[in-house]
Amino acid sequence: MKIAVIGAGEMGHGIAELAALRGHDVSMRDIKQEYLDRGMERLRWSLDKLVEKAQVTRPEADAALARIAPTLDLREALHNADFAIEAVFEDIELKKRIFRELDEASPDKTILASNTSALPITSMAMVTKRPQKVVGMHFFNPPMLMPLVEVIRADTTSDATLQASVDLAKALGKTVVVVRKDVPGFITTRVLGPYFEEAAWIHEQEGVPIERIDAAMRFRAGFPMGPFELADQVGVDVLHHLIVNAGQPEPARVRTLFEAKKYGRKAGEGFYSYKEGRPKLTPDMGADFDPIRILAPMINEAAALVAMGVAPPEDIDEAMRLGTAFPKGPLGLADDIGIDAVVAALRGHKRRRTEKLLEEMVGRGDIGIKSGKGFYDHRGSGGAMTFETLLLSKDAASHVATLTLNRPDRLNTLSPELLDELERALGELERDDGVRALVITGAGDRAFSAGADLTAFSDITKAFKVWRFSRRAEEVMNRVANFPKPTVAALNGYAFGGGLELALACDFRIAAKRAKLGQTEINLGLVPGAGGSQRLLRVLGQAKAKELVMLGSRLTADEAHALGLLTKVAENEAFPTEVRAFAERLAKGPPLALQLAKALLNRAAEAPLDVALDMEALAFGIVTSSDDIYEGIQAFMEKREPKFKGE
Ligand code: NAD
Repeated sequence: MKIAVIGAGEMGHGIAELAALRGHDVSMRDIKQEYLDRGMERLRWSLDKLVEKAQVTRPEADAALARIAPTLDLREALHNADFAIEAVFEDIELKKRIFRELDEASPDKTILASNTSALPITSMAMVTKRPQKVVGMHFFNPPMLMPLVEVIRADTTSDATLQASVDLAKALGKTVVVVRKDVPGFITTRVLGPYFEEAAWIHEQEGVPIERIDAAMRFRAGFPMGPFELADQVGVDVLHHLIVNAGQPEPARVRTLFEAKKYGRKAGEGFYSYKEGRPKLTPDMGADFDPIRILAPMINEAAALVAMGVAPPEDIDEAMRLGTAFPKGPLGLADDIGIDAVVAALRGHKRRRTEKLLEEMVGRGDIGIKSGKGFYDHRGSGGAMTFETLLLSKDAASHVATLTLNRPDRLNTLSPELLDELERALGELERDDGVRALVITGAGDRAFSAGADLTAFSDITKAFKVWRFSRRAEEVMNRVANFPKPTVAALNGYAFGGGLELALACDFRIAAKRAKLGQTEINLGLVPGAGGSQRLLRVLGQAKAKELVMLGSRLTADEAHALGLLTKVAENEAFPTEVRAFAERLAKGPPLALQLAKALLNRAAEAPLDVALDMEALAFGIVTSSDDIYEGIQAFMEKREPKFKGE
């Protein structure tokens, strides 16, 4: 295929490089020789880097370079082109002019695509005589590395043009999300908009320091960069144009920085000064800023896209994850946080109207994970698994399943029925290859689980019945401890007695700041009966375990963390996001190696050392029979994230 790239700047040279490396003939057109030379110089530099990192061979890089023809002559660039991809400045009048020129100078077969981040494709299509052959192809920077292309259907785009564009993006190795309607900002730019805008207005109108907002979004909401850091990275000039192009009012600080040419990182100064490198932010700086203030308006935009039929929730979430490193898609996140909480955060907002769809969902009671349905269905696979005392949700994209103990009116205490259901759910999840990590948590925000349901001991005089209940509980806890995939106990509130025992059976424990923990049976004249005395001993050692079991103390999350009982403590609002991020990290790991590592740390640790070391050596040998080891090593060499299959 022949591809003409119009513009040899930041994006143009990257798209040309990608297309040439994938075997296409490429022409690259700009308006001055010096711009072309600079584009080719950057392109050569990038190819050299890829060779250096062993991602392509020298002959492959040389062949790609030989396929690229830089030119000032538009007709020559377009000669016999199947596609023209326009990547000139983000200016609608300029783009319209160029589309007119492209239409006149290219053969009938050429599909004309724009790489604009936000401008209406339809208005470019309308100046041509082939509006059905005009489409949006939004690559991300740098095109070589970013995995996503948004393909935008203009009002005039034909099915054949859309299909050819999707096929091209896929042939270039990209994941494609189709934007079904030509709305301003498409998906990614539109949903990311409030990340900057809200932050800038909150800073301007309420005087909240930029460091506080950035630290909260980075450390509490799990974004790779805070909004002001990101604005400096992308360029304050780009941000200025985005706001102005969208016809939005511009925060004064953005305008002042723009006018002073303080464009951010590339200028050495923007919101931050870069004389001493990246801004130094620490988690405590963000403690007093609630990320939902910025997340809720982003979720509101994403909901608007669903309501307008621009894309379904899973596409929006995928586009945000791949295109903008949004830690979890905004709509999946909305289901985690609760649609009711999102609507509450938007109530009384000065600059935004709450989307009707969100209000309607709250009205229907579809408020996310806690109700079993939100933007996604969380009620398990096709109703095959229904429970009275548990909620089960599986996120197909991240491979994380969440089991919620669902007796909030009884502080999620462990009843015989709940234990039976827990066992059944574990069996099902064990067999489901789509699940690679399990989170166990409690419904509501008061309790993870406040312990065994004491009403289960209706006949406390019959010692053998209580003994049987204890053995049954221990059996189920063992099932949790030996579950072959990583488990995380997400302690959203009280974890006392049996609740703590269940948490101790999990591999990791993350607590919200408000959680309280204790092996509190002694206060009732009891002893732990579901493994507490033994698991606590193994986690903490004898001295600390005795203190907890024999004094029955209640610990705050911070105290429990200091003792070594918890993997981490998260601020209450950031807790769901942090749990999710942690579980997703586990779910990305190699399933077989994780299963063996878990067995070694759990089971071999109980055996005499020489036997345990034999087991380790065996595991080390066995794991090399998996395909994942080749993927792991390959990805390491190519400096990319591995994609493990568990085979
Ligand atoms: P850039 O300023 O780096 O490059 C634009 C190039 O277009 C310049 O070299 C300029 O000389 C050239 N040009 C101007 N008029 C021309 C004409 N008539 N014919 C041929 N070339 C011409 O800009 P960029 O960052 O590469 O952005 C290009 C487009 O891609 C914009 O629409 C932008 O919104 C979009 N985009 C940018 C990014 C990003 O991160 N930079 C990401 C995604 C999309």
